[in-house]
Amino acid sequence: MRTSTIIAIDGPAASGKGTLAKRLAAHFGMAYLDTGLLYRAVARDVAAAGDALDDPASALNAASKLDAQSLDDPALRGPLAGDAASIVAKIPQVRAALLEYQRSFARADGGAVLDGRDIGTVVCPDADIKIFVTASDEARATRRHMEHESRGETIAFEKVLEDLRRRDSRDKERNIAPLEQAAGALFLDTTTLDADQAFAAALLLIEHARRRS
Ligand code: C5P
Repeated sequence: MRTSTIIAIDGPAASGKGTLAKRLAAHFGMAYLDTGLLYRAVARDVAAAGDALDDPASALNAASKLDAQSLDDPALRGPLAGDAASIVAKIPQVRAALLEYQRSFARADGGAVLDGRDIGTVVCPDADIKIFVTASDEARATRRHMEHESRGETIAFEKVLEDLRRRDSRDKERNIAPLEQAAGALFLDTTTLDADQAFAAALLLIEHARRRS
């Protein structure tokens, strides 16, 4: 990889994009940014201020003051934080405020892997490699359901599926930077793949794409 290579990975929740992005970054020795954490942190800070998640002024204030050091917060993980993030993520001012941080991260020495919903379409439309990762609704809900069970939480599979679909529609149907496959993105369906198989498949796709370019 060139030292300035940018890999953009997009896809819906529980598609396996985060695990894949992290592994690709480690494999190629590149920096990694989970951009979902930015939106999760904005939602956390809006809620902490006692404001409604769809309050544009409060969300813009939180996004403008966002402390990158606070992204390690374990409270940001988990589906509730993800659902809250998808509400602040619909606010155009929030997206604009987070854009430069993501773009400057992408210019990191040694290259960078970013994952999210709009990396290949908006944040880094000129990325060297774009991958759109997806999986069937049922496969994604099964993964999420197993995560709940491993934490000892009891939740019906149907509820997990319903929550996932609601977040998907919010992300796909919003007016700004909706989740969609970017032009030129490689397509990876992980429905029947485990993390190792998805990583191997992505490496093959990247290798083919680089030979063609
Ligand atoms: O990827 P993750 O599940 O952490 O993302 C949480 C939410 O943040 C998504 O459902 C989406 O609404 C929003 N998001 C976004 N653009 C990104 C990354 C995340 O709108 N690049």
